[in-house]
Amino acid sequence: MQIQTATLGYPRIGKNREVKKALEAFWSGKLEAESLLQTVRQVEESNWKTQLEAGIDRIGIGDTTLYDHVLDWIFRFGLIPQRFQQFNGLERYFAMARGQEGIPALEMTKWFDTNYHYLVPEIATDILPSDFSDFIETVSRAQNILGKKAVPIVLGPCTLLRLSRLELNIDEAVSKLLPLYVILLTELKNLGIAEVQIHEPALVLGDTNSWKEHFQTVYNSLDAVGISLHLVTYFDDLGETYPWVIDLPVAAISLDLTRGRNSELIKTHGFPQNKRLGVGIIDARNIWQVRPEKVIPILQEILETLHGTSLDIQPSASLQFVPYDAKREKRLPSQLRNVLSFAEQKLQEVIFLARTIKDDNTKTEQEFIESTWSTFEEFSPANQSVQERLKTLKIDDFQRSLSYGLRLDSQISLPLFPTTTIGSFPQTSEVRQLRVRYKRGELNQSEYEAAIDAQIAESIKLQEELGLDVLVHGEFERTDMVEFFGQQLSGFAFTENGWVQSYGSRYVRPPIIYGDVVRSEPMTVREFQVAQSLTEKPVKGMLTAPVTILNWSYPRIDVSRSEQAFQIALALRDEVADLEAAGAKVIQVDEPALREGLPLKVERWNEYLSWAVDAFRLATAVVQPQTQIHTHMCYCEFGDIIKDIERLDADVISIENSRSNNQTLREITEGGYSHQVGNGVYDIHSPVVPTTEQILQQLRTGVANLPVKQIWVNPDCGLKTRRWSEVIPALKNMVEATKVLREEANATVKSQ
Ligand code: GLN
Ligand code: ZN
Repeated sequence: MQIQTATLGYPRIGKNREVKKALEAFWSGKLEAESLLQTVRQVEESNWKTQLEAGIDRIGIGDTTLYDHVLDWIFRFGLIPQRFQQFNGLERYFAMARGQEGIPALEMTKWFDTNYHYLVPEIATDILPSDFSDFIETVSRAQNILGKKAVPIVLGPCTLLRLSRLELNIDEAVSKLLPLYVILLTELKNLGIAEVQIHEPALVLGDTNSWKEHFQTVYNSLDAVGISLHLVTYFDDLGETYPWVIDLPVAAISLDLTRGRNSELIKTHGFPQNKRLGVGIIDARNIWQVRPEKVIPILQEILETLHGTSLDIQPSASLQFVPYDAKREKRLPSQLRNVLSFAEQKLQEVIFLARTIKDDNTKTEQEFIESTWSTFEEFSPANQSVQERLKTLKIDDFQRSLSYGLRLDSQISLPLFPTTTIGSFPQTSEVRQLRVRYKRGELNQSEYEAAIDAQIAESIKLQEELGLDVLVHGEFERTDMVEFFGQQLSGFAFTENGWVQSYGSRYVRPPIIYGDVVRSEPMTVREFQVAQSLTEKPVKGMLTAPVTILNWSYPRIDVSRSEQAFQIALALRDEVADLEAAGAKVIQVDEPALREGLPLKVERWNEYLSWAVDAFRLATAVVQPQTQIHTHMCYCEFGDIIKDIERLDADVISIENSRSNNQTLREITEGGYSHQVGNGVYDIHSPVVPTTEQILQQLRTGVANLPVKQIWVNPDCGLKTRRWSEVIPALKNMVEATKVLREEANATVKSQ
């Protein structure tokens, strides 16, 4: 038996966001392609050296990317849809990532249940020749630096296919792709590579039993190449696939021991002696230092069950989901900083755990870690009153006083097909500059507020001119819909350098929830009042809902996610009440992350949806019947959770619909959804201004699917990423199309 250490991937954006900066310079024509590639190589090599110096035995390599690792494999395997075949090289690569004039990019979607987005492969019959040269070059560079410790990371064939849009059937797709994998592995073998990590996270999806034969065929063929295969899974347990997965012809299998019930599966079914087990025990998706007293017993149990099996101690997945180095967060209080663990700290933890179970004397180290935790616990803000409030919640707190049908008529009266927007207006450089200057102290609070108010006033005037029915203040004071609230709530901490990749060159700095969440004063009421004082039309109060705030932050590990969601909900509940008291007749509470937070295994959906929907209800049910509650969700595919959407009990929901070809709308109609719906009438993610005719067409589909009384008219998401020169004509056309629709509807009524 041997105990060693491994990694499954590393942050690839550069400690100082070098890749983003280089990419943006390249896109704007200020940097040569060669310099861009050079930057990426430097970031990659410094990552390798960090892992080498930390003492990791098997270092995953080859996951560094210009944009997205799935796109890299799409590219290497020649899975190039027709519309991109006219381009070559980097131009083709970035056209696939970001689209080009008139040519839509590949679709982008969430990578399993993470906040990382990948590009969705489209596989047709005409696969172009594959080209592994960049990968092979990377691997040989890694061999020079890391020697035998370099372990190439390859996206597994079954996962690639599971995530793809296929124009051919699975069997055909497997038979096209498999020979390409054989070539790739053979090339790696020829380089003298001893082992390859094949990442197959699709194995945890819960319905993968039906893929058993594909996996067996594929892995039998790959095994024949004669290079050791390390099958890597993460994000959840193997579930019912466990018994046959452990029999696949591979040298090693990695399991995530931080999520799901893999340790139980190991106990029940054992693990083959002749394979190595990758023990993913360090949580790669959260930023808390390991708790030795919790983790060591799990490892010891595995050791006892699997007497004699070789083990690798490792992070549960790629470390791309955490930032580089917690030590750099000098502005955070040391009690908190000392229990944070980013990628570099996680490498140390891997080494520490491996030494501990090898029986090296690590007692003092362990005591030291435990003492940092107790210092943190004394420091972390506990709030008796919020805990008390949670304990004494009653059913009524989650329930509006009148049901939808009964409260409807008392709510604000509006024209047929009311028009509105989702909340934000363009974040111009002027607006961003304002916030920067305020932060730097160049503007004092009243100067800053006056400048924000001027923006609000302009936007209200514009919305009135456009003839919109329900107005918004424009969110000029917000950088980000989660950060803005986190900064005003206690219990949240913010990093300076804690960037992680969301997609491509877009990085985010998720807030850290580290204590009880408490609102000390109103967060949005002032801007609402300013806006409402300028118009007779209703202005929407605008908030981010609890599950979105939770899912886009790093949560605590000492209390459950549901409890954290409820704490946030209580803070929002007070804000909702204050907005109502300040005169808001309409309050929108955005919950775009509800759908994407669904667990990977369907059997766990109910448990999640039950508290997630309750949290929304807790935040909003406080209002009087006459106050109209809106919610907004960006993502489609509601069909399977339509009952839960209804249980939110929002009066109006606005959704993304324009890209899904009305699929969402059909799902809503078929689900018998009875509340009001604003199915986005145009795609705000594109700079193209929709014509009146296009919007009208979209609206007519709405009318054909839903009773007219249920229909609202709005873009499909916030407008903050657009320019005014796009927003104004688009909204003009939207209002125009609505007028035509109203006339048509009136004519129908008269003729009846
Ligand atoms: N109110 C937010 C905005 O308009 C909603 C954004 C979102 O759902 N992603 O920007
Ligand atoms: Zn949205």
